[in-house]
Amino acid sequence: MTKIGSVFSPKAKKALLLGSGELGKEVALELMRLGVEVIACDRYANAPAMQVAHRSHVLNMLDANELRKVIELEKPDHIIPEIEAIATPELLKLEEEGYHVTPTAKAAWLTMNREGIRRLAAEEVGLVTSPYKFASTFEEFEDAIKEIGLPCVVKPVMSSSGHGQSVVKTEADIVPAWKEAQEGGRAGAGRVIVEGFVDFDYEITLLTVRSVSGTTYCEPVGHIQVNGDYRYSWQPQPMSEKALERAKDMAKKITDALGGYGIFGVELFIKGDDVIFSEVSPRPHDTGMVTMISQDKSEFGLHARALLGLPVPEIKFYGPSASRAVVVEGNTDTVEFENLEEVLSEPGTDMRIFGKPEVKGHRRMAVILATADTVEEAKAKADRAYAKLGVVI
Ligand code: AMP
Repeated sequence: MTKIGSVFSPKAKKALLLGSGELGKEVALELMRLGVEVIACDRYANAPAMQVAHRSHVLNMLDANELRKVIELEKPDHIIPEIEAIATPELLKLEEEGYHVTPTAKAAWLTMNREGIRRLAAEEVGLVTSPYKFASTFEEFEDAIKEIGLPCVVKPVMSSSGHGQSVVKTEADIVPAWKEAQEGGRAGAGRVIVEGFVDFDYEITLLTVRSVSGTTYCEPVGHIQVNGDYRYSWQPQPMSEKALERAKDMAKKITDALGGYGIFGVELFIKGDDVIFSEVSPRPHDTGMVTMISQDKSEFGLHARALLGLPVPEIKFYGPSASRAVVVEGNTDTVEFENLEEVLSEPGTDMRIFGKPEVKGHRRMAVILATADTVEEAKAKADRAYAKLGVVI
């Protein structure tokens, strides 16, 4: 039985977020709506989720000792990883000691590293993926490319949002791709995955909820990535019945293998009726921000409900919707958004500004949301709103 007691009392239900970005901020808000005491953690102060949490800690979450110290101090009922860069082997130990990790420590551990989740999906669960090889040295890398063939995609095994990722189309791209992967990995230089390039018709995120009510799916989210980073997403992505059925079947299999309660972002490539597994996040997905306008419960609300052990009897979809990420470029700690009256002037338009304190290089700082009668109209509406947005850096 799930009980939620008064915050700041010995009966409080405490949730500790590991990662306090824009996705964590929404999860924090949803948990707080249910009366949960929320503790936000990240490597820097004033991160978005910290601005709305009951309290926060700044720590290096890749440091097992620092991670354990905070968890033993707070003794949370739920540890909720919101990013991949965490000392996940320590989470495995903490789970064995009785802590609850969302959805499971194993899921956080396996998905931290592309090798873990790829081997689980392809070699244990038996899902169709692109052909792949791993390489730790340049010699192994050259051999892997020979075996996989051109074109292929190269990614550091520890990376996300396109960091260190590139496509090798000709022999001339091989050395630059190796360099890029060595510089762009989260843990610095290291192992890479070489994947066959999938010439897909479109790609989707199938948001999949595991809860006490069983497994349920949101309408498929279509999206466009620029250099591995999401820029647009929409819902529902039109799909053949067969492709959708296969996508749900794959999502069920991989999320069952990871276990636990919460939302998962299952990333799939679709070509005709064929579905190819790419990867999975055992947490809300950035492309799923569109659900903040398209559903009665966003992916964050669903995550909160499920992880607390509460039922998710239905997912109510309101209709065609789109999201447009606002990526700001420059070096500044005084970003200002302007012309918001115009941005939000059309009915069915909304926006979230994440409240990130600074930009160094480029950073996703906000998202525009739109809903309309068709996906095409929703995308066009989001674009019109985006075009009116002024960003002062
Ligand atoms: P990932 O970080 O693995 O999700 O990759 C980011 C994006 O790069 C994906 O959403 C695709 O648009 C693209 N991508 C990744 N892997 C492949 C592949 N094997 N073939 C074609 N495109 C890919």
